[in-house]
Amino acid sequence: MSAPARDHSAEPAGEVLLSVRDLAKHYRARGFRLFGKEESAIKAVDGVSFDIRRGETLGLVGESGCGKSTTGRVLLFLEQPTAGEVWFEGVELASLDAEDLRQVRQRMQVVFQDSADSLNPRMNTGRIIAEPLHIYERGTDAEIKARVAELMDLVGLNPAWAKRFPHEFSGGQRQRINIARALAIDPDFVVLDEPISALDVSIQAQVVNLLADLQRELGLTFLFIAHDLAMVRHISDRIAVMYLGHIVELADAGALFEEPLHPYTQALISAVPLADPKKERTRIPIVLEGEVPSPANVPSGCVFHPRCPLAVERCRTEVPEIREFTPGRFVACHLVDEAGSHIVQRS
Ligand code: SF4
Repeated sequence: MSAPARDHSAEPAGEVLLSVRDLAKHYRARGFRLFGKEESAIKAVDGVSFDIRRGETLGLVGESGCGKSTTGRVLLFLEQPTAGEVWFEGVELASLDAEDLRQVRQRMQVVFQDSADSLNPRMNTGRIIAEPLHIYERGTDAEIKARVAELMDLVGLNPAWAKRFPHEFSGGQRQRINIARALAIDPDFVVLDEPISALDVSIQAQVVNLLADLQRELGLTFLFIAHDLAMVRHISDRIAVMYLGHIVELADAGALFEEPLHPYTQALISAVPLADPKKERTRIPIVLEGEVPSPANVPSGCVFHPRCPLAVERCRTEVPEIREFTPGRFVACHLVDEAGSHIVQRS
């Protein structure tokens, strides 16, 4: 089996490991059932498509409430999608029975944001890292103990600390425990859901560098979910920008930062401080009015139109299709011209 022909996902250069097609996750809005008919839904994810090739990092960015984390959970089947398909190595996950899905899921792991909450405070580090090895019966007790020591070493933790409990570690060290646990059963693909957001700025780069080293060493493939664009740029090969359940732009990381095409991407990037002090002095952030609307009340037309500084009448009624303007460069905006090189200004 292979994934169906793509419509609006990027065209990566290498072998595709994971494909997502028209993925949707809608939750029923409370109090909106009338005569057995659903009147409204909270559209957390609404028709998302992309590919991730083996060994690459796809960054997934956007403000809080844009559907990034839900996308990560749904593509791992931690939550059932409302619609759409997830293909892993050419196999559609929804076509698998429970046991086959469990086997595939071994190869798809996740590291969550809050390292304090995501570790069981009553288990010592050795037991936490060993847990997936026991669940999937990966060796004898002695083999598992040796594997735990190997994993701790791999993520830069002293194996002698295996008897320590989560509260005895710093935030950065706890996140290393999370990473060791995620890598315990040799996954191919890891969703990193805001893995550094809860850490001190001084520690964030260390964890990102660790992840980049592990990726090179182990041939891992990452979906890196974050709202910090500077860090995402550092680790990502390509970046997808999400707004209110939709991908509005997807491109190589360099191209996206050089020349963001979607007004939302332009606003996000304009808020990123520049390393060059001269350029930083002249940087003018684009301030977006208001908050991300509720996914229970999605605007008509382009979902970004109430906040878009370039919106025209058409934007209020017509949904912009995401289109590939140059190879691997996808944008959903009525005002990007045919060459995809710039925004046509409002007349
Ligand atoms: Fe803005 Fe219109 Fe483009 Fe949407 S389609 S991003 S509202 S200009």
